[in-house]
Amino acid sequence: MTTHHTDTFGPDFDIEAVHNGYFTVENTNTGEWRTFRIRKHGENDRFPTNSQTLQLLVGPENTTCYKKFAFINRRGAYSFKGLRLQDPKWQAMCDLVHSLITEGINSRYYTKLGYVIRHSNRCFVCGRTLTTPESIDTGIGPVCAENMR
Ligand SMILES: [Zn+2]
Repeated sequence: MTTHHTDTFGPDFDIEAVHNGYFTVENTNTGEWRTFRIRKHGENDRFPTNSQTLQLLVGPENTTCYKKFAFINRRGAYSFKGLRLQDPKWQAMCDLVHSLITEGINSRYYTKLGYVIRHSNRCFVCGRTLTTPESIDTGIGPVCAENMR
């Protein structure tokens, strides 16, 4: 388990300033993690202009393989109705992510349940987006790390 978590969200974080932000939420008790993206929509998207959706990484490409599942704004994150009716996990993920973003280390998910949230950064060798907890901590992706051995 990594020990130097850098929590970069909190009360001063402006959620609407995120245009195409990537971040990873890790449960430090289980080691499980998920990567999310917030995307602000433009005129040519099928979503309302300037609306923001919350998306879950569901495939191998960590900058493209995302499932949109919720709208997000200052007040909260709201899973799409069809998904919410299918499975309560979608709204649970919304509540988790929104709480961690806006409350940071004061979030009950952080203090009671051991969740941490980290901004993705880029690999210092190749510049690709890093999303796994280990890569974010070390600043280098698995392929570049292997090549440096
Ligand atoms: Zn790299």
